Amino acid sequence: MRNLVLVLGDQLNADASALDGFDARRDALWMAEVAEESEQVWSGKPRIAVFLSAMRHYRDARRAEGQTVHYVELDEPANTGSLAGELERAARSLKPERLVVTEPGEWRVWRVLEDAAQRLGLPLEIRGDRHFYASIADFKEHTLGRKQLRLEFFYRELRRRERVLLDKHGEPEGGQWNFDHDNRGSFSKSGPSGLRSPAAFNPDATTRAVLALVERRFPKHPGKTDAFDWPVTPAEARRALEDFIKHRLADFGTYQDAMWTREPWLYHSRLSAAMNLKLLDPREVVNAAEAAYRAGRVSLASAEGFIRQILGWREYVRGIYWHFMPDYVERNALGAREALPAFYWNGETEMACLRDAITQTLELGYAHHIQRLMVTGLYSLLLGVDPRRVHEWYLAVYVDAVEWVELPNTLGMSQYGDGGVMASKPYAATGKYIQRMSNYCAGCRFDPAKSTGEDACPFTTLYWDFLMRHDRMLAANQRMALQVKNLARLGDKERAAIRARADEIRRNGGAPGAASQASLL
Ligand SMILES: Cc1cc2nc3c(=O)[nH]c(=O)nc-3n(C[C@H](O)[C@H](O)[C@H](O)COP(=O)(O)OP(=O)(O)OC[C@H]3O[C@@H](n4cnc5c(N)ncnc54)[C@H](O)[C@@H]3O)c2cc1C
Ligand code: SF4
Repeated sequence: MRNLVLVLGDQLNADASALDGFDARRDALWMAEVAEESEQVWSGKPRIAVFLSAMRHYRDARRAEGQTVHYVELDEPANTGSLAGELERAARSLKPERLVVTEPGEWRVWRVLEDAAQRLGLPLEIRGDRHFYASIADFKEHTLGRKQLRLEFFYRELRRRERVLLDKHGEPEGGQWNFDHDNRGSFSKSGPSGLRSPAAFNPDATTRAVLALVERRFPKHPGKTDAFDWPVTPAEARRALEDFIKHRLADFGTYQDAMWTREPWLYHSRLSAAMNLKLLDPREVVNAAEAAYRAGRVSLASAEGFIRQILGWREYVRGIYWHFMPDYVERNALGAREALPAFYWNGETEMACLRDAITQTLELGYAHHIQRLMVTGLYSLLLGVDPRRVHEWYLAVYVDAVEWVELPNTLGMSQYGDGGVMASKPYAATGKYIQRMSNYCAGCRFDPAKSTGEDACPFTTLYWDFLMRHDRMLAANQRMALQVKNLARLGDKERAAIRARADEIRRNGGAPGAASQASLL
């Protein structure tokens, strides 16, 4: 055998660079399901199932095309359970001249493959990942000579280079790059109207076998498999895209930041897992959104707001990850040391917003951006949870979690652990933000306006406590000036009461007080 082409679980695009020059007579593909990838962090069942099902469908599609795929299933008796173990086992029996792979999406996996190749004495060719608009080198070049990195500049560069949403003079369509200020809507008291369920994909025989396997092998892992309806093939992913463009993109911009009890999808695309596993090319997604705008079917604000997430944020966070790893994962700029509250793993809390966001996360493997940033992320930030523990939770529970995208979003954007690389200031807010953007507070026994007292909203208590704990550092940040100034309005007595309640929440494992916990039982 000439090349053994390694295909990882998040590299399921048939046109990946690792397959360039593939010669079916001399080359073969290799894939392995290994328990280590589900146990490294305590992965949720929906996440494990999405990966395994999409991998098996990819295997079957390549075999149907006549390619040889050496595939190790999770429950094969000889499976060592580790990526390195399986690769070494395969290479020793197949004796390829060379290993070929597309750039992995995780630093750890990159190291594992390099080390395994070295032990085997085989050359390992790592090829660039064409799935992304920007290469790792493009991002490096963007950073040259810049004191501060910001999404906006990188996004504009890519829009110009890729000629996305430009007018005939090569300037941004509509005369501005960014329509973010139009994208802050919330729902009236009656809630979202006319919502349609997004395209759902009934598990086929392959997926059903995977769901049974996940329940058998990982029974104690968080989450459920009975609501599984994620796209797991390129054809399904394309149908999910069409459904989104047709039925939800028009309202995406306006309600991008809004939340509503037991409405997990609202106007979001739920395309992240399909893109991260590379069932769907981001160009196809961006082009479809631009075409909908050009055809007059959606507003510029909606199309731009959506495209910015993909051509902007998605590319930018990948750049940040590879630019700052491996030490990025160790960062903890706020010196946060608390444990992650136990209710993150079961959703059992009186706080209505957290209960809804976590329950939905565990059941579906999904929460939208503002639930991740301004509910679960905000609470752990204010409580002072060690960002590494927060990162492990996010990496475990979401179907779209791959480290290159999850880590900068969690440790950087939501926990400010990187000290301002991803976000210019911590995303700190009181419960009133959640009240404004959702109906959660209407069904909660706490009052978002209160920071002390038995019914004080824990977010609000912890917000003021957070400002007090970090006042010096925050005062040096101009963008936090107003928030820190408001702190001066608190009298000594109020400060002491807030501190006492925040301490009590911490002593109680991050939950609002033993008394109120007791009422749960
Ligand atoms: C703490 C935290 C952790 C996150 N972890 C992940 C993760 O593991 N994997 C992941 O794909 N996204 C992650 N995100 C980003 C974002 O929340 C998800 O991409 C989005 O919620 C996926 O749902 P959707 O496909 O319906 O997205 P939509 O709201 O419909 O957005 C469209 C697409 O834009 C992209 N996108 C949007 N926001 C971001 C962002 N901040 N970074 C990168 N891409 C973005 C995604 O590909 C998404 O599919 C995280 C955000 C936060 C705050
Ligand atoms: S009152 Fe506080 S805890 Fe309750 S839903 Fe609102 S923000 Fe969440």
